[in-house]
Amino acid sequence: LFVTIEGGDGSGKSTQAALLESWLAGQGRTIIHTREPGGTDFGLEVREIVLHSRGHITPRAEALLYAADRAQHIATKVRPALARGDVVIQDRYIDSSVAYQGSGRVLDGAEVRKISEWATEGLRPDLTILLDLDEDEARARLDNAQKRFDRLEAEKSDFHRRVRESFLAIAAADPVRFVVIDATKPPEVIAQLIRDRISTLL
Ligand code: C5P
Repeated sequence: LFVTIEGGDGSGKSTQAALLESWLAGQGRTIIHTREPGGTDFGLEVREIVLHSRGHITPRAEALLYAADRAQHIATKVRPALARGDVVIQDRYIDSSVAYQGSGRVLDGAEVRKISEWATEGLRPDLTILLDLDEDEARARLDNAQKRFDRLEAEKSDFHRRVRESFLAIAAADPVRFVVIDATKPPEVIAQLIRDRISTLL
């Protein structure tokens, strides 16, 4: 089972991934909890480059770096785990590229998706959890963490509005794959909604 978690900064992806992992582990399942960018050694190098080269690399160069990270990650880590029958919980996947590199950096979303579909030989998640957070709440949460706030400030709020709208549009177009959850709900409530949905797939 391949589960991806999507959402903006501060939406609680890591918290929910951890809660889901421990719930599934309690059922005796083997879980690979991974993330993009940076799920492999190569990916960690790519992560360093993309997160520290903002303003220096072109949107297309950035999109290709994310796709390169994804190609390595899916081929060497995710596909082998799925072949063993493990559950893969992955923080961010192709939808993040469509939202960030597509709508955020104003590239054609369909083209961005195509590059990543080529990179991953078309691997699709069985379920994608979108933790949706409105812009004001996202900003309020990030104010508490200076490092992340700096990143948010570097990217104008319009960027985040476009990214959020893109995630919602992708989800609306693919309701079978997606579950969209209001990220302002209490973490335990969100975790239960996720468990309910995953139970139908196991
Ligand atoms: O995964 P994490 O939330 O730590 O992502 C860090 C940042 O990387 C995000 O806030 C986003 O700005 C950026 N990112 C991106 N394109 C992706 C994935 C992440 O711009 N495909």
